[in-house]
Amino acid sequence: MLGNSPTVAQSAMRGIACRCPRCGRGKLYGGFLTLRPNCEACGLDYAFIDSGDGPAVFIIMIAGAIVVACALIVEVKYQPPLWLHAVLWLPLILATTLLPLRAMKSLLIALQFHHNAAEGRPIDRRPR
Ligand SMILES: [Zn+2]
Repeated sequence: MLGNSPTVAQSAMRGIACRCPRCGRGKLYGGFLTLRPNCEACGLDYAFIDSGDGPAVFIIMIAGAIVVACALIVEVKYQPPLWLHAVLWLPLILATTLLPLRAMKSLLIALQFHHNAAEGRPIDRRPR
């Protein structure tokens, strides 16, 4: 696999599988969201990785839409007591935020690697 560059879909699948963005074999994480220092299979240094707040923002937008929509539907249809809302939505909030977080962070890292994205840097425009 080394040598020929992967397609966006291949990179995305490596991301969702939480694997190294370059070789797709080594593990990306050492802990729940803690990255390993480098790939155990191909030796890629993970220091370039900068996913920032991206994964959390995507998760908040998606989970917020799901939970709020569910809560509104249940409230309009059944008007349950507030304690029942808490019992219903707290686990749903945990499930819709914590479960996809690893894969979302890894996906954004894989796409960052695929597109060679990095902080902006000045271009040398002097004539040679
Ligand atoms: Zn690797």
